[in-house]
Amino acid sequence: MSVARRAPHLASRLQGLGTTVFAEMSALAEATGSVNLGQGFPDTDGPVEVAEAAMAAIRDGRNQYPPGPGIAPLREAIAAHRQRFYGQHLDPDTEVLVTAGATEAITAAVLALCETGDEVILIEPYYDSYPAAVALAGARPRLVPLRPPSWELDVDALGTAVTARTRLVIVNSPHNPTGRVLTDGELAAVAAACVDHDLIAVTDEVYEHLVYDGLRHRPLAGYPGMAERTLTVSSAGKTFAFTGWKVGWACGPAPLVAAVRTVKQFLTYVNGAPFQPAVAMGLGLADSVFCDAADALAAGRDLLCDGLVSVGFEVAARPQAGYFAVADAAPLGGTDAAAFCRELPHRAGVVAIPVSAFCERRDDVASLVRFAFCKRPQVLEEAVRRLGRL
Ligand code: PMP
Ligand code: GLN
Repeated sequence: MSVARRAPHLASRLQGLGTTVFAEMSALAEATGSVNLGQGFPDTDGPVEVAEAAMAAIRDGRNQYPPGPGIAPLREAIAAHRQRFYGQHLDPDTEVLVTAGATEAITAAVLALCETGDEVILIEPYYDSYPAAVALAGARPRLVPLRPPSWELDVDALGTAVTARTRLVIVNSPHNPTGRVLTDGELAAVAAACVDHDLIAVTDEVYEHLVYDGLRHRPLAGYPGMAERTLTVSSAGKTFAFTGWKVGWACGPAPLVAAVRTVKQFLTYVNGAPFQPAVAMGLGLADSVFCDAADALAAGRDLLCDGLVSVGFEVAARPQAGYFAVADAAPLGGTDAAAFCRELPHRAGVVAIPVSAFCERRDDVASLVRFAFCKRPQVLEEAVRRLGRL
């Protein structure tokens, strides 16, 4: 959202990255005493047994550097989790790497796999770290849109985005900010493009367990021809509602994982020593732990979406997954959502994020606003009450 001014000292390939919209909007929420429905983080902790396991690990002295690829029990738990939920077989020693959240996994992947000048296909709206990772790598983004109001993938645009320089496609499903779960047909189209043009897919599956209405998450790695060319990324942050722990992972064919490991060891080397055994334990918990979190979030989604509609926003598509709902502020005069969101804390005491922050330049998202619903019901009710002032 910042006005692009030349930042002194910052390398030219990184000009324009500025401060992330999440940091900017959380600071604004703090400064104005607003309800923060901007940055996506829950306001309640995840499973108490997982938190207890981390505390026990600290007490037991698990406080020094863990092994570079992550502790063996966590790599084994990640492999067992992928097998249990998706039937994906992974060797925990060579095909699983523990990272500092999904963010590091994705950035390390782009740095490891791209030459300067290579092209990376991003689906737009995109999570903000993707174009930043592409810029860090000296690569170039090629954007393929999801089109509102249904947010379907423009499959034709995907076909024409591929050039001789295309190296990677980053695919985020369930998707932030739209809350869409890509359909079988869309994923099959992405898989076909990857196979036909010999591309590598990096998937961002951090919302894999936060899927509603009986839908299911389908990993791209499960499509024909994809296991050997997909680096699957996920994280414990969303699954267990501990977003600050920053324990994530990358899984896939050993040569891809080895390339990412090479970069990862010079970014953070390792992280989260006491959180690693806790996440390992959490990944083995009963199915109900994973489902209950989704049920609670689906209730928050309904509360927020109904509330937004009741105060005059238009909510064209209810999110199928994740933490966020997209609403159209045009009926409330918010034809420029970026300006609307800048004023919203002062006018109503609520912080939200314009969808334009997840896009390069898109007229069709100009009046759209992203609200987080991963909050307690009373917080969502208070936000709606405040939005009623508009
Ligand atoms: N990908 C997406 C789509 C996200 O929404 C987020 C933020 N929650 C991340 C990655 C970052 O995940 P992590 O905190 O594990 O780095
Ligand atoms: N993923 C969170 C969001 O989309 C933010 C995480 C961050 O601040 N980097 O709001």
